[in-house]
Amino acid sequence: MSDARPRPEPDLRAVYAARARIQGLARRTPLLRAEALERELGTELWLKLESLQPTGAFKVRGAANALARLSAPARAAGVVAVSTGNHGRAVAYVARCLGIPATVCISRRVPAGKQEALRALGCRVVVEGESQDEAEVRARALQADEGLTLVHPFDDADVIAGQGTVGLELLEDLPGLGTVLVPLSGGGLAAGVALAVKTAAPTARVVGVTMERGAAMAESLARGRPVPVPEVDSLADSLQGGIGEGNRYTFALVRRLLDDVVRVSEDAIGRAMAWGFERERLVLEGAAAVGLAALREGVVAPGGGPVVALCSGRNVDPDAFLRVLRAYGAGAGG
Ligand SMILES: *Cc1c(COP(=O)(O)O)cnc(C)c1O
Repeated sequence: MSDARPRPEPDLRAVYAARARIQGLARRTPLLRAEALERELGTELWLKLESLQPTGAFKVRGAANALARLSAPARAAGVVAVSTGNHGRAVAYVARCLGIPATVCISRRVPAGKQEALRALGCRVVVEGESQDEAEVRARALQADEGLTLVHPFDDADVIAGQGTVGLELLEDLPGLGTVLVPLSGGGLAAGVALAVKTAAPTARVVGVTMERGAAMAESLARGRPVPVPEVDSLADSLQGGIGEGNRYTFALVRRLLDDVVRVSEDAIGRAMAWGFERERLVLEGAAAVGLAALREGVVAPGGGPVVALCSGRNVDPDAFLRVLRAYGAGAGG
């Protein structure tokens, strides 16, 4: 109840406040110079390894900020999330750390392996319906019946501020920041990073990168309002999903703060995943490799200082990763 009130749009102060709150829950991740990739690109390149967060993706930052802010009664009642992947894991992980009961609603289409990974984090898993939308209906019912707080994966002021802490770390570790390439889906990460980076270093460029087909934010920006898009299979499965036609924060923030939004093909994503593994021994899920893909394919022109590719997560199942290496690696026929 106490958390049903919409918060104002987050700002740089909210991002700094988030940083203090998430300490001990999310890691300060390394920013590493990617020398082997750099030689091929001819540009100074750094990798921000959010793939090294607990649960394997940056989403633990937003979840930590949102959960740490809850009142004592809201904590006691518990939280609920709708997710097929990284958001659910992040909420379950942080909830366990804080002793808050967590429920994750998923559809029957979520693979057994992912269900198990969620249960292993100690949360209640509720399987409902054939789609994310049906799982969300159940989550809203639990919110009403059990007084749970629904934690949104991106369109929430606290979640955006939490993701923005990535931007603060970039500013500290690389003061001469030129361009930051941010994977873009619902826009919580891009909005948060842009809030931090563009406020403190207005000349730095922040570019959102997404997949060619089924990219709801990119389509919505092109139309000038949030629009639904049909879901299409992608190697960047963590970038799938809509932005909500009643989007409250991320659409406006992304539209105002990002310098550009670019798209990369499935083949480009596959080649970037294989390239990252072969040259730097990085395991990146498809969504996390889109920045490298954009650079490698020349979709974004570097220039004006060092480039950072934000590597957002590592949660790709081994079979899928091996298929990508076989299809796109140096040893592949093509
Ligand atoms: C959720 C996610 C994204 C996209 O983040 P948004 O805030 O929805 O734009 C990118 N990469 C990974 C690995 C993710 O889990």
